[in-house]
Amino acid sequence: MLIDVRNIDGKPVDFSFDENVDINLPSGVTGARVSVRGNVCRRDNSLYIVKGNIDAVLAPQCDRCLKPFELSISVELDEVYGEEPDEDGEIWLVSDKTIDLKPAVSADIVLALPMRLLCREDCKGLCPKCGHDLNEGDCGCDRGYVNPQFEKLLNMFDDQK
Ligand SMILES: [Zn+2]
Ligand SMILES: [Zn+2]
Repeated sequence: MLIDVRNIDGKPVDFSFDENVDINLPSGVTGARVSVRGNVCRRDNSLYIVKGNIDAVLAPQCDRCLKPFELSISVELDEVYGEEPDEDGEIWLVSDKTIDLKPAVSADIVLALPMRLLCREDCKGLCPKCGHDLNEGDCGCDRGYVNPQFEKLLNMFDDQK
């Protein structure tokens, strides 16, 4: 996702990329198929304004059942690149007269992801005892959590019998 900026002036120049990008997730790195379409133009001599759209398809691990699932993300691309770093760190650096879109694109995708990555809203997850995928049916484990206080109470009733 490299753009040579030497011939870019105030007139927007279109670009499009289709590439695999590694996305860093808390659960690990996952590959994403990414399409980026947009344009870039120069402003104030040393700034480059990049605008466009990112469409990504990735296969993250479900937070509950740990199986990879397909997730499509669409997000706007709106970045500023410059030859000099700015104090606020809001400008991505141009190096060797080249913009590398990849770091910005992968950061935008991570920001657009939902808080919880679930293969489906009602994913039942894994049995905490045997690890069975509960979406595929019950494993028969007794997963009931018995509160120790409640257990005492139950024993009390037993004693009364
Ligand atoms: Zn799941
Ligand atoms: Zn089980």
